[in-house]
Amino acid sequence: MIAENLAVVRAAMAAAAGRAGRAPGAITLIAVSKTFDADCVRAAWQAGQRDFGENKIQEGSEKIAATAALAGARWHLIGHLQSNKAKRAAAGFGAIHTIDSVELLQRVDQAAVAAGTRPDVLIQVDLALEPTKFGAPAGAVDAIARRALDARGVRLVGLMLVPPWHEDQEVTRPWFAQLRGLRDRLVAGGLPAASLAQLSMGMSHDFEAAIEEGATMVRIGSAIFGARTAPR
Ligand SMILES: *Cc1c(COP(=O)(O)O)cnc(C)c1O
Repeated sequence: MIAENLAVVRAAMAAAAGRAGRAPGAITLIAVSKTFDADCVRAAWQAGQRDFGENKIQEGSEKIAATAALAGARWHLIGHLQSNKAKRAAAGFGAIHTIDSVELLQRVDQAAVAAGTRPDVLIQVDLALEPTKFGAPAGAVDAIARRALDARGVRLVGLMLVPPWHEDQEVTRPWFAQLRGLRDRLVAGGLPAASLAQLSMGMSHDFEAAIEEGATMVRIGSAIFGARTAPR
């Protein structure tokens, strides 16, 4: 089932890329395996999947260890990171999408230097300013990105967005366009384009709109692995 689901998602991604005049190869599919076990990760890997996402350090670290034999697997932390867990994040994850302050960036950078790792990082942006959401307000992104230019352990590669949830992706689409617009303004303001090349946005129900609006990484869980029993 996982292999079939992956094929369906990849085809829909390619179609969305085509509608936007983009190359399908420019978009990375991150299979979000949270709440699913290591066997599910193995099944996806067998079907050619290499990028995986987890939203919790503990669960993610255990799964990374359990699947260490899967060549080429690359792990993305897509959930909120508490600064006291920066060490484990920097040690195990190839990419951390949820940097939302200068302080957290520095913690993860120091941890990466100490661990001898070189994780990619993205700045999570909170465009809607929902009280329950994590992420840096748009006005804080420039300072975080400029601090990242001096980092010695981490490498800034882009921005990440979790927009307000809505089942209709046409309602969500303007948030995706806003993240791209923010990125374009930051680059026009002097930040290096390579540091902001990645836009991590789009989930199972709205990845097509996200790709049409410029996503370079989509984070897809339930459309690949099935419905999660616990909402999270
Ligand atoms: C769970 C999760 C996803 C994937 O959600 P699905 O609806 O299962 O595709 C994407 N991004 C984040 C931040 C998540 O926590």
